[in-house]
Amino acid sequence: MEITGKTAIMFVIADPIDHVLGTAALNTHFRRCGQDVAAAPLHVRPGDLEATLDVVRRLQNVIGLGVTIPHKIAIVPMLDHVTQNARLVGAVNFVRRDPDGRLIGDNVDGEGFIAGLSVHGVTVSDTTVLQVGAGGAGRAIAFAVASSGAKKLNIVNRTKTKAEELARAVQEAYPDCAVTAQIPDLGGVDLVINATSVGMKASDPLPLDLAGLRPAAAVAEVIMRPETTAMLRQAAERGCVTVPGRAMLDHQIALAAAFVTVNRMT
Ligand code: NAP
Repeated sequence: MEITGKTAIMFVIADPIDHVLGTAALNTHFRRCGQDVAAAPLHVRPGDLEATLDVVRRLQNVIGLGVTIPHKIAIVPMLDHVTQNARLVGAVNFVRRDPDGRLIGDNVDGEGFIAGLSVHGVTVSDTTVLQVGAGGAGRAIAFAVASSGAKKLNIVNRTKTKAEELARAVQEAYPDCAVTAQIPDLGGVDLVINATSVGMKASDPLPLDLAGLRPAAAVAEVIMRPETTAMLRQAAERGCVTVPGRAMLDHQIALAAAFVTVNRMT
């Protein structure tokens, strides 16, 4: 990829930065589509987020940002506009910089997650889902699961109040899905989702013990490194279909790239 004065720039902001995979995936996507856009990682501390956004508003060749840990929720009130989906979720993972410098936030985590499932033959419609985690990614996934027609959604989280608040918000937005913050009988669950960061380190415990889960159930991860977490290994040993975190990322990239480049294509 040749970066010239005509190349539009995207940054992916995070703290820490070394785990970020999105820049490579975005660059591959832009190259494949013949778009003159380059993405680079930018290490931004939480206390510097607002000042960074003020600078980005003034950078004429920057078209957008990818947003990841720990900025997804904190960034929402700092932007000039957020899409309805991002507002519902309460978290942003991509920002478009419009030509007038306004920063528009969106969230494609949930849509990317559902698309990643379907590539592995997993559908959500009419199923019972157990989701562990209610952080930025967890919020996006919970709304997407309910909007994709799940019959029941159980959300559990280390901080129980966050699971309860998320369950209430999803229930209100999607009354046809029965949403609770209780652990269900695992024997009746069709899909388990790990939406926490537990499993990134080799010393991490399992986010959830899968004993009792039926082999016909599916288990999906948000974690991308390692590619096969201990939970996915346990799921595979039980005979379950497994969906790695990478599937979610891959499917977000096209959605995100379309969002940030919209002004360049029209
Ligand atoms: P986040 O907003 O910080 O949320 C972290 C979640 O993990 C919360 O539910 C948190 O529970 C839980 N958690 C953290 N440490 C824990 C522990 N020791 N024990 C139990 N629960 C714990 O982060 P996020 O943005 O949602 O990201 C979560 C994971 O998703 C990360 O691994 C990230 O890399 C991954 N991710 C992947 C993709 C993808 O495309 N595959 C996209 C986005 C994110 P509390 O609420 O109690 O703190």
